[in-house]
Amino acid sequence: MMPSGLPPSEERDPGALLRDRGLRVTPQRRAILGAFTGAATEHLSADEVHARASAVVPEISRGTVYAALAELAELGLLAAVGSPEPVRYETNATEHQHFRCRICLRLYDVELPAVRTDRLATLGFQVERTTVSVEGVCADCVQYDAGLEAGARDAVADAGSPTDLPGGLACGIVESPVGDVLLGATAAGLVRVVFEDHVDAGALRALAARRRGGQAARAHVADATAFLAAYFSGEATPPACTVDWAGLENVSVSTLRAVQAIRPGLDRSYETLRTDAGAHDRGLAVGTNPLALVVPCHRVTRGREIPGAYVGGPERKRWLRQHEQR
Ligand SMILES: [Zn+2]
Ligand SMILES: [Zn+2]
Repeated sequence: MMPSGLPPSEERDPGALLRDRGLRVTPQRRAILGAFTGAATEHLSADEVHARASAVVPEISRGTVYAALAELAELGLLAAVGSPEPVRYETNATEHQHFRCRICLRLYDVELPAVRTDRLATLGFQVERTTVSVEGVCADCVQYDAGLEAGARDAVADAGSPTDLPGGLACGIVESPVGDVLLGATAAGLVRVVFEDHVDAGALRALAARRRGGQAARAHVADATAFLAAYFSGEATPPACTVDWAGLENVSVSTLRAVQAIRPGLDRSYETLRTDAGAHDRGLAVGTNPLALVVPCHRVTRGREIPGAYVGGPERKRWLRQHEQR
């Protein structure tokens, strides 16, 4: 296959190439691109590039070379071949191929038609092994995203419809940097912690104004109020809240319970949660989470990606994640 990045060496001027891509022409960058003056069939390691570039710019560091190579690959001037990830082991020792999900980085076994190498044989090559890998987004990651998006859409007042609230609810309203947070608790524990544009916000606000609910339910609302005050003031370990799991009608309560265990400032990918729900239901459970903040669904990622969809909208999610970094 012909390389698509650099033009043939005789037409190549490192300075012009860099300027074309909006990069400043530094002696280091010039030396790194200049290292590729050999045939277009060359495949250089970063160390080889470093060795060649050092001949021109003796003080160039390995770190500079690695960073510049990554930058040039990102811009399409160079192509990177090979995987930087660690080797993975499996019990299936027979010859087979893999699909790699670029989101969750999991590998899946796939059967692909054999690669033809007869032409190489006629040229005198002795082929011992062929490797084909397929990359993309796995079905779980697609399904999780669909569930999450659908859930987050339905949780907003002007898109979804209010859910059934249990009877005997005590309710409260807490002002926060991300708007009012509305609370609802039964005698057994919390059942709602939602933002002001949530489908249930109107009903909770009306109940809060009527001061309903028994003593036990009101105590859970007080606990949640204390939790939120501690959380928003940046306390590392806000006091715990009791959740009335039986009072929830979420599609996958076991997913929410797994999410509740994610500690502040940490992320967990959806596929690593200890729940028996499928990928779509995990997404739906996280997207419709009726216990925002207490069940920290803003800490659930999709592999190495942080989805924008959130039960309180992307802006609140960004704010919360930044708040936890501080
Ligand atoms: Zn995946
Ligand atoms: Zn395999």
